[in-house]
Amino acid sequence: MPGTTPVPSSGRDRAVIVDYHMHLRRPAEATEEVDHTPEAIERYLETAAARGIDEIGFTEHVYYFRQTYEVWTLEYQIERCVHDLDAYCDTILEAKRQGLPVKLGLEVDYVGARQERLTELIADYPWDFLLGSAHWIDGLAVDMEPGLWAVYSVEEVWRLYVAAVSELAGTGSVDVLAHPDLAKIFRRLPEPDVLAELHGELADAAARSGVAVEISTAGLHKPVGELYPDPTLLRACLERGVPVTTASDAHVPANVGRDFDRALALAREVGCETVTVFDGRKRRQEPLG
Ligand SMILES: [Zn+2]
Ligand SMILES: [Zn+2]
Repeated sequence: MPGTTPVPSSGRDRAVIVDYHMHLRRPAEATEEVDHTPEAIERYLETAAARGIDEIGFTEHVYYFRQTYEVWTLEYQIERCVHDLDAYCDTILEAKRQGLPVKLGLEVDYVGARQERLTELIADYPWDFLLGSAHWIDGLAVDMEPGLWAVYSVEEVWRLYVAAVSELAGTGSVDVLAHPDLAKIFRRLPEPDVLAELHGELADAAARSGVAVEISTAGLHKPVGELYPDPTLLRACLERGVPVTTASDAHVPANVGRDFDRALALAREVGCETVTVFDGRKRRQEPLG
Protein backbone atom coordinates (compact mmCIF):
# COMPACT_ATOMS: atom_id res chain seq x y z
CA MET A 1 0.00 0.00 0.00
CA PRO A 2 1.25 3.49 -0.78
CA GLY A 3 2.01 5.67 2.23
CA THR A 4 0.61 3.27 4.78
CA THR A 5 2.67 2.50 7.84
CA PRO A 6 1.20 1.81 11.26
CA VAL A 7 1.14 4.67 13.72
CA PRO A 8 4.20 4.07 15.94
CA SER A 9 3.50 3.81 19.62
CA SER A 10 5.72 6.59 20.91
CA GLY A 11 8.45 9.10 20.30
CA ARG A 12 6.76 11.22 17.69
CA ASP A 13 5.06 14.53 17.40
CA ARG A 14 3.67 14.26 13.90
CA ALA A 15 -0.06 14.81 13.78
CA VAL A 16 -2.23 11.74 13.36
CA ILE A 17 -5.53 11.28 11.57
CA VAL A 18 -7.58 8.19 12.32
CA ASP A 19 -10.90 6.98 10.94
CA TYR A 20 -12.20 4.63 13.59
CA HIS A 21 -15.66 3.70 12.33
CA MET A 22 -16.42 1.85 9.11
CA HIS A 23 -18.14 -1.22 7.74
CA LEU A 24 -16.51 -3.46 5.13
CA ARG A 25 -18.86 -3.54 2.12
CA ARG A 26 -18.60 -3.91 -1.63
CA PRO A 27 -18.15 -0.62 -3.47
CA ALA A 28 -21.74 -0.29 -4.75
CA GLU A 29 -23.65 1.86 -2.28
CA ALA A 30 -27.04 0.42 -3.25
CA THR A 31 -26.27 -3.18 -2.29
CA GLU A 32 -24.53 -2.74 1.08
CA GLU A 33 -23.16 -6.24 0.57
CA VAL A 34 -20.85 -7.38 3.37
CA ASP A 35 -17.30 -7.97 2.18
CA HIS A 36 -14.99 -9.12 4.99
CA THR A 37 -12.08 -9.86 2.64
CA PRO A 38 -8.46 -8.73 2.18
CA GLU A 39 -9.50 -7.12 -1.11
CA ALA A 40 -12.10 -5.02 0.66
CA ILE A 41 -9.53 -3.94 3.25
CA GLU A 42 -7.23 -2.89 0.39
CA ARG A 43 -9.97 -0.76 -1.15
CA TYR A 44 -10.66 1.01 2.16
CA LEU A 45 -6.94 1.60 2.66
CA GLU A 46 -6.59 3.10 -0.79
CA THR A 47 -9.16 5.78 0.01
CA ALA A 48 -7.58 6.32 3.41
CA ALA A 49 -4.13 6.85 1.85
CA ALA A 50 -5.54 9.21 -0.79
CA ARG A 51 -7.16 11.32 1.95
CA GLY A 52 -4.15 11.37 4.25
CA ILE A 53 -5.72 9.13 6.90
CA ASP A 54 -2.97 7.40 8.91
CA GLU A 55 -4.95 4.56 10.42
CA ILE A 56 -8.41 3.03 9.98
CA GLY A 57 -10.46 0.85 12.28
CA PHE A 58 -13.07 -1.64 11.07
CA THR A 59 -16.20 -1.75 13.20
CA GLU A 60 -18.79 -4.14 11.82
CA HIS A 61 -22.16 -4.18 13.53
CA VAL A 62 -22.11 -6.85 16.23
CA TYR A 63 -25.48 -8.28 15.14
CA TYR A 64 -23.99 -9.42 11.80
CA PHE A 65 -22.22 -12.31 13.53
CA ARG A 66 -23.88 -15.61 14.30
CA GLN A 67 -21.73 -16.05 17.41
CA THR A 68 -24.02 -13.40 18.94
CA TYR A 69 -27.29 -14.84 17.54
CA GLU A 70 -28.91 -15.58 20.88
CA VAL A 71 -29.00 -11.90 21.81
CA TRP A 72 -31.07 -10.63 18.89
CA THR A 73 -34.80 -10.20 18.79
CA LEU A 74 -35.56 -7.96 15.82
CA GLU A 75 -36.09 -9.18 12.28
CA TYR A 76 -33.63 -6.52 11.04
CA GLN A 77 -30.87 -7.98 13.22
CA ILE A 78 -31.72 -11.67 12.83
CA GLU A 79 -31.73 -11.59 9.03
CA ARG A 80 -28.24 -10.07 9.05
CA CYS A 81 -26.90 -12.42 11.72
CA VAL A 82 -25.27 -14.91 9.33
CA HIS A 83 -21.57 -13.96 9.26
CA ASP A 84 -18.63 -15.55 11.05
CA LEU A 85 -16.94 -13.44 13.69
CA ASP A 86 -13.77 -15.55 13.61
CA ALA A 87 -13.36 -15.07 9.87
CA TYR A 88 -13.93 -11.31 10.20
CA CYS A 89 -11.32 -11.02 12.95
CA ASP A 90 -8.82 -13.28 11.18
CA THR A 91 -9.01 -11.23 7.97
CA ILE A 92 -8.31 -7.98 9.80
CA LEU A 93 -5.66 -9.54 12.05
CA GLU A 94 -3.86 -10.87 8.99
CA ALA A 95 -3.82 -7.34 7.52
CA LYS A 96 -2.36 -6.12 10.83
CA ARG A 97 0.32 -8.80 10.70
CA GLN A 98 1.26 -7.58 7.25
CA GLY A 99 1.89 -4.17 8.79
CA LEU A 100 -1.13 -2.44 7.29
CA PRO A 101 -2.44 0.49 9.36
CA VAL A 102 -5.70 -1.12 10.42
CA LYS A 103 -7.36 -1.79 13.75
CA LEU A 104 -9.79 -4.50 14.82
CA GLY A 105 -13.05 -3.14 16.15
CA LEU A 106 -16.73 -3.77 16.36
CA GLU A 107 -19.83 -1.57 16.70
CA VAL A 108 -21.58 -2.92 19.76
CA ASP A 109 -25.27 -2.22 20.23
CA TYR A 110 -27.06 -1.27 23.38
CA VAL A 111 -29.23 -4.27 24.27
CA GLY A 112 -30.36 -3.38 27.79
CA ALA A 113 -30.68 -6.43 30.04
CA ARG A 114 -28.81 -8.61 27.50
CA GLN A 115 -25.68 -6.41 27.54
CA GLU A 116 -23.72 -8.58 29.92
CA ARG A 117 -24.37 -11.67 27.81
CA LEU A 118 -23.38 -9.83 24.62
CA THR A 119 -20.18 -8.69 26.32
CA GLU A 120 -19.38 -12.31 27.23
CA LEU A 121 -20.00 -13.53 23.69
CA ILE A 122 -17.43 -11.16 22.21
CA ALA A 123 -14.95 -11.23 25.07
CA ASP A 124 -12.42 -13.67 23.61
CA TYR A 125 -11.29 -11.61 20.63
CA PRO A 126 -8.27 -9.30 20.48
CA TRP A 127 -10.16 -6.04 19.93
CA ASP A 128 -8.28 -2.81 19.53
CA PHE A 129 -11.40 -0.90 20.46
CA LEU A 130 -15.15 -1.34 20.72
CA LEU A 131 -17.66 1.27 19.68
CA GLY A 132 -20.84 1.62 21.69
CA SER A 133 -24.06 2.60 19.92
CA ALA A 134 -27.71 2.88 20.86
CA HIS A 135 -29.66 2.24 17.66
CA TRP A 136 -32.66 0.54 19.28
CA ILE A 137 -34.30 0.92 22.66
CA ASP A 138 -36.77 -1.79 23.70
CA GLY A 139 -36.95 -2.92 20.08
CA LEU A 140 -37.72 0.54 18.68
CA ALA A 141 -35.26 2.36 16.43
CA VAL A 142 -33.70 5.74 17.18
CA ASP A 143 -32.40 6.30 13.66
CA MET A 144 -35.16 4.71 11.59
CA GLU A 145 -38.79 5.74 11.33
CA PRO A 146 -41.34 5.14 12.72
CA GLY A 147 -39.36 3.55 15.58
CA LEU A 148 -39.40 5.42 18.90
CA TRP A 149 -40.71 8.54 17.21
CA ALA A 150 -44.15 7.04 16.65
CA VAL A 151 -44.53 6.12 20.31
CA TYR A 152 -42.86 8.85 22.35
CA SER A 153 -42.58 12.64 22.36
CA VAL A 154 -39.32 14.15 21.11
CA GLU A 155 -38.25 14.88 24.67
CA GLU A 156 -39.04 11.33 25.75
CA VAL A 157 -37.04 9.87 22.87
CA TRP A 158 -34.07 12.01 23.82
CA ARG A 159 -34.31 11.05 27.49
CA LEU A 160 -34.53 7.36 26.59
CA TYR A 161 -31.63 7.69 24.19
CA VAL A 162 -29.33 9.48 26.65
CA ALA A 163 -30.23 7.00 29.40
CA ALA A 164 -29.40 4.08 27.07
CA VAL A 165 -26.06 5.51 25.95
CA SER A 166 -25.14 6.38 29.54
CA GLU A 167 -26.03 2.87 30.68
CA LEU A 168 -24.00 1.33 27.86
CA ALA A 169 -20.99 3.50 28.70
CA GLY A 170 -21.36 2.60 32.37
CA THR A 171 -21.05 -1.12 31.69
CA GLY A 172 -17.38 -0.64 30.80
CA SER A 173 -17.88 -2.90 27.80
CA VAL A 174 -17.14 -0.27 25.12
CA ASP A 175 -14.32 2.22 24.51
CA VAL A 176 -15.88 4.90 22.33
CA LEU A 177 -19.39 6.33 22.05
CA ALA A 178 -20.31 6.28 18.37
CA HIS A 179 -22.39 9.12 16.87
CA PRO A 180 -22.99 10.33 20.45
CA ASP A 181 -26.10 12.43 19.73
CA LEU A 182 -27.69 10.14 17.17
CA ALA A 183 -31.13 11.20 18.44
CA LYS A 184 -30.78 14.44 16.48
CA ILE A 185 -30.72 12.49 13.18
CA PHE A 186 -34.15 13.74 12.03
CA ARG A 187 -33.48 17.26 13.36
CA ARG A 188 -36.00 16.84 16.13
CA LEU A 189 -34.71 18.46 19.29
CA PRO A 190 -36.19 18.93 22.75
CA GLU A 191 -36.50 22.41 24.26
CA PRO A 192 -33.08 24.12 24.63
CA ASP A 193 -33.00 23.76 28.43
CA VAL A 194 -33.74 20.03 28.19
CA LEU A 195 -31.17 19.60 25.43
CA ALA A 196 -28.53 21.37 27.55
CA GLU A 197 -29.39 19.15 30.53
CA LEU A 198 -29.12 15.99 28.40
CA HIS A 199 -25.83 17.11 26.85
CA GLY A 200 -24.50 17.51 30.38
CA GLU A 201 -25.77 14.06 31.37
CA LEU A 202 -24.17 12.43 28.34
CA ALA A 203 -20.85 14.17 28.93
CA ASP A 204 -20.95 13.22 32.63
CA ALA A 205 -21.61 9.59 31.71
CA ALA A 206 -18.75 9.54 29.22
CA ALA A 207 -16.35 11.07 31.75
CA ARG A 208 -17.43 8.76 34.56
CA SER A 209 -17.12 5.68 32.38
CA GLY A 210 -13.75 6.57 30.87
CA VAL A 211 -14.91 6.27 27.27
CA ALA A 212 -13.97 8.47 24.32
CA VAL A 213 -16.50 10.12 22.01
CA GLU A 214 -16.28 10.07 18.26
CA ILE A 215 -16.63 13.07 15.99
CA SER A 216 -18.55 11.55 13.10
CA THR A 217 -19.02 13.04 9.66
CA ALA A 218 -21.90 10.64 8.94
CA GLY A 219 -24.42 13.12 10.33
CA LEU A 220 -23.60 15.53 7.51
CA HIS A 221 -25.30 13.05 5.17
CA LYS A 222 -28.37 12.42 7.31
CA PRO A 223 -31.50 14.61 7.51
CA VAL A 224 -29.89 16.67 10.31
CA GLY A 225 -27.00 17.65 8.03
CA GLU A 226 -24.55 18.17 10.92
CA LEU A 227 -21.56 16.47 12.45
CA TYR A 228 -22.13 14.26 15.48
CA PRO A 229 -21.81 15.47 18.18
CA ASP A 230 -23.18 18.97 18.49
CA PRO A 231 -20.38 21.49 19.33
CA THR A 232 -22.02 22.15 22.71
CA LEU A 233 -21.93 18.47 23.61
CA LEU A 234 -18.38 18.12 22.36
CA ARG A 235 -17.29 21.09 24.49
CA ALA A 236 -19.01 19.58 27.51
CA CYS A 237 -17.09 16.33 26.92
CA LEU A 238 -13.75 18.11 26.55
CA GLU A 239 -14.32 20.14 29.71
CA ARG A 240 -14.66 16.83 31.54
CA GLY A 241 -11.49 15.40 30.00
CA VAL A 242 -13.22 13.01 27.59
CA PRO A 243 -10.94 12.30 24.60
CA VAL A 244 -12.08 12.05 20.99
CA THR A 245 -11.74 9.89 17.91
CA THR A 246 -12.68 10.84 14.35
CA ALA A 247 -14.97 8.71 12.22
CA SER A 248 -16.71 8.50 8.86
CA ASP A 249 -19.02 5.50 9.49
CA ALA A 250 -18.22 4.57 5.86
CA HIS A 251 -20.31 1.76 4.37
CA VAL A 252 -18.45 1.93 1.04
CA PRO A 253 -14.71 2.42 0.42
CA ALA A 254 -15.30 5.80 -1.22
CA ASN A 255 -16.52 7.25 2.08
CA VAL A 256 -13.47 6.53 4.23
CA GLY A 257 -12.28 9.84 5.66
CA ARG A 258 -15.18 11.66 4.03
CA ASP A 259 -15.49 15.32 5.11
CA PHE A 260 -12.69 14.98 7.64
CA ASP A 261 -11.75 18.61 7.08
CA ARG A 262 -15.07 19.43 8.78
CA ALA A 263 -14.48 17.01 11.67
CA LEU A 264 -10.97 18.31 12.30
CA ALA A 265 -12.14 21.92 12.06
CA LEU A 266 -14.79 21.26 14.72
CA ALA A 267 -12.26 19.55 16.95
CA ARG A 268 -9.89 22.52 16.70
CA GLU A 269 -12.72 25.01 17.15
CA VAL A 270 -13.64 23.51 20.52
CA GLY A 271 -10.00 23.39 21.64
CA CYS A 272 -9.24 19.73 21.11
CA GLU A 273 -5.51 19.17 20.54
CA THR A 274 -5.21 15.39 20.52
CA VAL A 275 -6.85 12.36 19.01
CA THR A 276 -7.16 8.92 20.59
CA VAL A 277 -5.24 5.98 19.14
CA PHE A 278 -6.19 2.49 20.33
CA ASP A 279 -4.17 -0.72 20.62
CA GLY A 280 -5.63 -3.76 22.33
CA ARG A 281 -8.27 -1.60 24.08
CA LYS A 282 -5.55 0.63 25.54
CA ARG A 283 -5.64 4.22 24.44
CA ARG A 284 -3.16 7.01 24.08
CA GLN A 285 -3.31 10.57 22.82
CA GLU A 286 -1.53 11.78 19.71
CA PRO A 287 -1.43 15.30 18.23
CA LEU A 288 -4.60 15.98 16.26
CA GLY A 289 -4.08 16.00 12.48
ZN1 LIG B 1 -24.13 3.24 14.21
ZN1 LIG C 1 -21.56 2.28 11.98
